[in-house]
Amino acid sequence: MKDYIDSYKIGLWEEYNFRFLLADCTTAFREVVRRQKLKNSSAILVAKTMMGAFFLAGMVKEETVVGIQLEGDGPIERVMGYSDRIGRMRGLARYPDILSDNEISRGIGKGIFRVTRWGGARKLHQSITKMERVGFENNLLNHISESDQLVSFLSIHVSEDFSCKGMILQALPFTPQIKIDELMDRLRDISYTTEELFSGDLDSTLTKLEDTLKANALTLDAGIPEFYCGCSIEKIKNVIVSMGKEESYSILEEQGKIEITCEFCNEIYELDSEEVHLLFI
Ligand SMILES: [Zn+2]
Repeated sequence: MKDYIDSYKIGLWEEYNFRFLLADCTTAFREVVRRQKLKNSSAILVAKTMMGAFFLAGMVKEETVVGIQLEGDGPIERVMGYSDRIGRMRGLARYPDILSDNEISRGIGKGIFRVTRWGGARKLHQSITKMERVGFENNLLNHISESDQLVSFLSIHVSEDFSCKGMILQALPFTPQIKIDELMDRLRDISYTTEELFSGDLDSTLTKLEDTLKANALTLDAGIPEFYCGCSIEKIKNVIVSMGKEESYSILEEQGKIEITCEFCNEIYELDSEEVHLLFI
């Protein structure tokens, strides 16, 4: 199979005073699918959650990592997606293969839509909105408008073979209402289905959007999203230290070593008794 390369573009529609992020995260998502053995509606929702996290991280200048966590009363129960502003992403589902007739909104159900921003290891901000049975995209839009008071338009397409593409358009502060209305009207009249809009590469998607909006876009930045976990032996050691000496030593006694598997990438970290003792000197 030919190597597939992901990409993203960030830029402006000066005519409307809107910024945009357009992304193809197919390879990154397929890596998550492979590592987590994701299937069905669970897989689609993880893709959308990661893409949503990228939208939120990519639309701000600060270097933050954004996590979106969904907790619902449906059978999917819990899904998480993380990304930084250059699209290094990872994701997770509580149950990796729930099939809910592709009715994602029923699969996760009603509950909590939580967005967390980190700067390095520090939690900067967390905001929570109600999650309703209206689909991921509408819940994300609702969250952006309630928490950040920003007007946005977004679309995410996940295909059966796990390609994952999406876009967000967002009004810059002080955009006149007349421009917002004009852009929204044009987008409502778009002559492409989501599948058509995202068929081909990102340049072709951009051209279709330029046709629809009757204005040229200015690309300011571009890059390659990728699967990135960020776990390390150092972080695992911190986890062991925070468990405390007593608990760590009792695991050692039982198993002769401490083994921790990263739930995001399934990497197994193993520390022998000498390594564990060194942590508590
Ligand atoms: Zn990991």
